[in-house]
Amino acid sequence: MTPAMPRTALAWSVLLVLLLLAAETPALAQAGVRGIDVVGYVATIRPDMQTRSVSGTVDVHFRVVADGLTTIVLDRGELAIEDVRHDGKRLEFELLPRRLRVQLGRPFGRDTSAVVTVSYRGQPRFGMQFHPERRQVYTIFSTSQWLVCIDAPDDKATLDLTVALPAGLLAAGPGALVSEQPGGDGTVAHRWRQSRPVSTFLYGFAAGPFVQLDGRHGQTSLRYLGAGQSRDELGRIFDTTPDMLDFFASRAGVSYPDDAYTQVLVAQTAGQEASGFSMLSEAYGRALLNEPAGVSLMAHELAHQWWGNLVTCEDWRHFWLNEGFATFMAAAYEERRFGPEAYREQIERARQRYEEVRLKDGDKALVFANWDRPTANDRTVVYQKGAYVLHLLRQQLGDDVFWAGIRRYTTAHAGRSVTTEDFQRSMEESSRMSLGSFFENWVYRR
Ligand SMILES: [Zn+2]
Repeated sequence: MTPAMPRTALAWSVLLVLLLLAAETPALAQAGVRGIDVVGYVATIRPDMQTRSVSGTVDVHFRVVADGLTTIVLDRGELAIEDVRHDGKRLEFELLPRRLRVQLGRPFGRDTSAVVTVSYRGQPRFGMQFHPERRQVYTIFSTSQWLVCIDAPDDKATLDLTVALPAGLLAAGPGALVSEQPGGDGTVAHRWRQSRPVSTFLYGFAAGPFVQLDGRHGQTSLRYLGAGQSRDELGRIFDTTPDMLDFFASRAGVSYPDDAYTQVLVAQTAGQEASGFSMLSEAYGRALLNEPAGVSLMAHELAHQWWGNLVTCEDWRHFWLNEGFATFMAAAYEERRFGPEAYREQIERARQRYEEVRLKDGDKALVFANWDRPTANDRTVVYQKGAYVLHLLRQQLGDDVFWAGIRRYTTAHAGRSVTTEDFQRSMEESSRMSLGSFFENWVYRR
């Protein structure tokens, strides 16, 4: 997500939207409590820009991880459920607040696999943004507002997503593009396959009458999309992307995990990471043309492809492992690009914002439970205090030991969901030091 720095005039409205989204983020307990582990989703959805609505069907492929499972619970945001089926037969279901409880009709044994198909429709208030005047539609963060799923970061799954969009639009989506098939009703079915399991909050797409510029860096195809910019301008806006990819890959010790990376300049959203692409506001893109050094937000979103997307917080209590990391890594990129003073400025800005919150008695431990209703202060804790604490750890360990620890942490947990204990353990194994008092002071205590 965006660091929500007040860099643009949109920052406050964006912040509000993000707070709403985060407030609505369901956090179901772990797979054992859920009774299922979702392996993959196969979904077809139809967004309607004019009515700001969406309808869809999703096959939820899951493995049973409990004995004699008779019900499953899925997140549905505010979607209306039309029909739930297994093997073609209708299943009984009931609606809970933001959730759907399905009666399986008979006990399902442990380790069996099954597919439940859910048909739904709704008018997402958030999670999907409609800009009919610009012919743009895109998703943002709160996936269960447009796709019935397990909306929790620890249940990583594959996705086969088909989105029916008006003809003539370009779109970015998760993983690899499979096909673009005209539907005969003025729509084109864009189909993507995300074959590496990722967290559902990273699912999404962005579509509009975009201009496209293609590039390549090593093994990675690059694509830049924007409306209202020329291809030449897109090239200038995103000219640091290849350098960023190299920098983060070397800091992570892991190559960029997908074949392609797309950056889309959308109508309003300030910044949002997704699987294999990111969205930035076109206002930010315009600002970059005048101020090419303002790459922090772009770097933040790209850093998420490793810290947040590849290595993901297990639940929202450990959200700083996504957001504190991305904020810190953006500062580290600025250090490499513009020199140590640029890094110090970013860290000092983070420290000051954290200090303001601390003086207002808004400080919290970095690991905290109640992310269900986060305040602006909570966000500062997760983003800015998180980045500042990583800087302090870097100071304590020295560059060689610190970055070796980051590489150990990232390579050991690539593709997985993690807790703060995993991070501490990696840093301790790498440094051969006990970091208990550091973590106690800066991470677990306010
Ligand atoms: Zn972020």
